[in-house]
Amino acid sequence: MESTVKTRCCIVGGGPAGIMLGLLLARANVATVVLEKHADFLRDFRGDTVHPSTLEILTELGLKQRFDALPQRRINEIEGWFADGAHVMGDFRGLKPFPYMSLVPQWDLLNMLAEEAQRHPNFTLHMNTEATGLLYHDNRVAAVTATTPEGVLHVHADLVIGCDGRQSCLRDAAALQPQNLGAPMDVLWFRLPRHPDDPAGTYGVPGKGNFLVLLNRNDYWQAACVIAKGGSARLRADPIADFRARIARRVPFLADRIDTLASWDEVKLLEVRVDRLPQWHRPGLLLIGDAAHAMSPIGGVGINLAIQDAVAAANILAPALLAPGLPNDATLAAVQQRRLLPTKIIQAIQVLLQRRIIAPALASQDDGKPMRLSGVVRFFLRSRLIRSIPARVFGKGFRREHVRSPQPPAS
Ligand SMILES: Cc1cc2nc3c(=O)[nH]c(=O)nc-3n(C[C@H](O)[C@H](O)[C@H](O)COP(=O)(O)OP(=O)(O)OC[C@H]3O[C@@H](n4cnc5c(N)ncnc54)[C@H](O)[C@@H]3O)c2cc1C
Repeated sequence: MESTVKTRCCIVGGGPAGIMLGLLLARANVATVVLEKHADFLRDFRGDTVHPSTLEILTELGLKQRFDALPQRRINEIEGWFADGAHVMGDFRGLKPFPYMSLVPQWDLLNMLAEEAQRHPNFTLHMNTEATGLLYHDNRVAAVTATTPEGVLHVHADLVIGCDGRQSCLRDAAALQPQNLGAPMDVLWFRLPRHPDDPAGTYGVPGKGNFLVLLNRNDYWQAACVIAKGGSARLRADPIADFRARIARRVPFLADRIDTLASWDEVKLLEVRVDRLPQWHRPGLLLIGDAAHAMSPIGGVGINLAIQDAVAAANILAPALLAPGLPNDATLAAVQQRRLLPTKIIQAIQVLLQRRIIAPALASQDDGKPMRLSGVVRFFLRSRLIRSIPARVFGKGFRREHVRSPQPPAS
């Protein structure tokens, strides 16, 4: 069966960028349809670091209280686990008004935003609906084709916005080619139980050959093992017991529960990419979030930049979509122009850290031991000002966005 709907704006992808943008546009009274290929938001671990920049946006939207009620852990410092114990490497305490970041399952955040968006009559969310291509009229993107369990859906829209992530099919359909900035690593994600007497922090455990990140999720550790790019297949060729032994050697307190990692099926690979589109738009089409710029996991900024993009896009596009006529190229270019600099700065920092610290460490032979922290670094880390720099850079970001798209009409 084929069906057709018409709307002012069609957003493809119900991740942080798509759902936030859908909420903001519908709230501003713009008829908005969001297509999401999955049946729900409950997926594999997708990252859950909600930084102060996003907490500010949630506050501006009046959603902070509801957000605070979601299951979460507030983190006000990130520690590095070295041979002589833990050292604070990042300190959020000096940030205002939110001196912490929250670790919140991404599906809970998305469910909350989608519920809020659905209060607005102009918002329509089609789950289980996978965009497959674009249709053009007068050399302008005019519609999205999608498959649904009921058949093919055509969504005609005055503007299509691709928020469909790092594998964006709309980007491919529009022949927009990202520039690859390079990443020397991939990440293996897995969970381990957390015991009440475990250390209470959130840790990076640097080492040679690979290193670990342990996110404290109250009753479990969300663990990441950073490995050299393309190294996953080689590791997986060995029994999972070898991997378990490697983790237990690096973090001895995990040894007593490492056997709960029963098979390689429980270890998910994130192929790290850092890329950016030179141009984020075509007539009738704009790409934002990971679809426009995939980020390195360094700093846990992906969700937060996607949300900043959505806020900037809504601020610029809502007035154009409320006015008669089609949003023109200059309006779409203004969104890219607004978001390009902060994206470039963060990616440049990530690429620098990848080249200077991560790549050399991953290239060395794994000796199973945590690294030693040099005396010079230890000296500098005594200063709270220095410890607050990573928190400021990644937690607050650059050119922070604020919700300026129109308010909902009083009911
Ligand atoms: C394993 C993992 C761990 C991560 N850890 C972190 C972290 O700790 N902190 C952090 O900030 N970031 C993290 N990230 C990155 C973060 O998830 C992304 O940067 C962020 O979600 C980008 O948001 P987005 O909305 O642009 O894209 P996405 O979140 O990728 O959302 C895209 C959405 O589009 C949907 N979609 C895709 N194609 C189609 C289609 N054809 N039709 C319809 N729908 C479609 C997808 O199902 C998805 O819901 C992690 C990512 C992964 C994979």
